[in-house]
Amino acid sequence: MAPILILDPGHGGVDPGGGTNKLFVEKEMTLAISLYQYRRFQELQIPVAITRTDNDTTLSSEARTALVRNSGARCCISNHINAGGGRGSEVIYSIHASAALPRLIKDELEAAGMPNRRIFTRTLPNNPNLDYYYMHRETGSVETVIVEYGFADNPLDAEKIQLDWRELAEAVVRAFCEYAQLAYRPPAPSAPGSGENGDMPEWKRDAIDWMYEQGLLTTEDWRRQPDQPLPLWAEAVVLKRLYEKLRTPG
Ligand SMILES: [Zn+2]
Repeated sequence: MAPILILDPGHGGVDPGGGTNKLFVEKEMTLAISLYQYRRFQELQIPVAITRTDNDTTLSSEARTALVRNSGARCCISNHINAGGGRGSEVIYSIHASAALPRLIKDELEAAGMPNRRIFTRTLPNNPNLDYYYMHRETGSVETVIVEYGFADNPLDAEKIQLDWRELAEAVVRAFCEYAQLAYRPPAPSAPGSGENGDMPEWKRDAIDWMYEQGLLTTEDWRRQPDQPLPLWAEAVVLKRLYEKLRTPG
């Protein structure tokens, strides 16, 4: 059965992508987002394909667009993280396509807490009849949308992506289902890839609860990624709070 949608994790292999910072590498974050969406579309029984499934695969622009062009899919979502100074998501679509899907993606990402910077099309400087981005220009009749989830070099965007990339990925799943008029169900709490931790051992949960009871951690977001390391600044905050606590008992 031909896929309705093909997902494209941006970059990969020797190309890490520019949307990289101290928290994540673009090619790895776009793969995590894409694999999450891939599993979710499968759960929803929506035929889906993907251009790469590991971080070692290098795809030339020719190979990548050929995969999309020959996939038989109606749509392609190409996942990226932006860089270069800005705040919020961007959705880029073809000059030959409508803004309907980009608008839904923008709305759903906003609802998931990521502001939108713009949705736009862009043409080649020397040819107003051709798309600027090869993912639009070389993917034939497939309706390709490039989603930039936020700016790696903006601290607010970067932290939001690092903490909530599953929610942002899910927002795009919701938008696509709405656009293609396919039945959408939210992820089951313990579904694989949903980011929940239904089977976390009690001793882990107790230890995490203790951090919150003691006021060492206050942001609820950390609870959702119990197996992820804290960034250095957050560790510093925890240690500082502990130090203050020990200096002023009671
Ligand atoms: Zn990119």
